[in-house]
Amino acid sequence: MLNRWGLTNRVAVLSRQIDGLQGRLHEPMSVAPAQGSRLQDTKDRLASLCARLKNMVDTLAAELSDQSPAENQWEQWADLSWQFRGLAADCLALEQSVTVRRDPGAALLCTAADKLAEGFSGAVGKPRSHYVLISEAEHFGVDASAIHLAYGRLEIWNLNRVAHEFGHLWGQECANGPGGSQKSFVEYLTKASRVENAINGKVTAPSPSPAWNEAQAKEFFADVLATFLMGPAYALACLTLDLSPADDRQSDSHPSGHERACCILMALLRLAPNYCSYYQDDMEKLHQELADFWSATRVAAGKPVTLNHQAELEYAVGIAVSHLLQEIPAAQHKCLEAAYTVRNELARNHERLPGGAQGLDVLNGAWIRRWEGGPAAPSPIGRAAFAMLEDWCK
Ligand SMILES: [Zn+2]
Repeated sequence: MLNRWGLTNRVAVLSRQIDGLQGRLHEPMSVAPAQGSRLQDTKDRLASLCARLKNMVDTLAAELSDQSPAENQWEQWADLSWQFRGLAADCLALEQSVTVRRDPGAALLCTAADKLAEGFSGAVGKPRSHYVLISEAEHFGVDASAIHLAYGRLEIWNLNRVAHEFGHLWGQECANGPGGSQKSFVEYLTKASRVENAINGKVTAPSPSPAWNEAQAKEFFADVLATFLMGPAYALACLTLDLSPADDRQSDSHPSGHERACCILMALLRLAPNYCSYYQDDMEKLHQELADFWSATRVAAGKPVTLNHQAELEYAVGIAVSHLLQEIPAAQHKCLEAAYTVRNELARNHERLPGGAQGLDVLNGAWIRRWEGGPAAPSPIGRAAFAMLEDWCK
């Protein structure tokens, strides 16, 4: 009796709840035909995760006897419930996304985000479709392998976040094995003493605790990879919009805003020499301007411009960049030619996508134009760039 109200009952309820999710996934959702196959791929991924979870729950149910459950069976149930929670969050985001994406403006931005992510996937040699989900905040859903964008920030100047979330996706799925670039980057940063030794070439006392934990190191990695994939637009968006120069506080999962800005600047500088020769000077100049800008905003915010553990972070960023250049050289953003054409068209208030320009060129061109023009009046640039993205998405 006790057990029927104990674990057996809970497992049965969980099983029914998974049925509920599966049922909703199989309901038809009306979407624009162009989005249909992308949506279907995501639904299929979620449905197979549901089926797998259902299987595990049923296995556990079959193993339960009328006697008291073993302690590890409670743990199994807790673990399965936790997985269910993540899956349900992705399913809810899917339903929300279908609704939000009915709005033409949101639909265009989301389609542009899908195409950007698909471009990144192709460039790293893992071509696949993407259907970005809309949630409260940007994140990457590991189980469903889905990029979530923030409901409140669906605008062209925030599309840099697609690159960051893709950085998490690639880091987790392709670079987290032994010797993988994310793995080695995280290992260096979370074992700071080893890095110090490597830098100084001498043995020092091990530091009591490293400056960053694994989750924080993965954030740095996603920023490095996003800078690698996207180029200056990523750095410009992060340093002028996303990150606060007054932020010196780490959370459990994220480095401080200042730490992330420094990391992005380091990556930008490391990558400059790998640009096509014609653009290397421009990249170095842009890096210097952004670094000066960041220092000035730090001073204005009453904060020091220095960074604690700068040497470790620089060393780790260097390792990550050289790994990436070896592993996925074709994915590096390294030419500004088409972005400059976009910038010139925007300067003339033209809205037509220049021949040969892609979505990334539009974002880089728009950001470079905005940076050169100063913070005032971003909206005409944004509107024209939006029209170019629309051309690109056709
Ligand atoms: Zn992140």
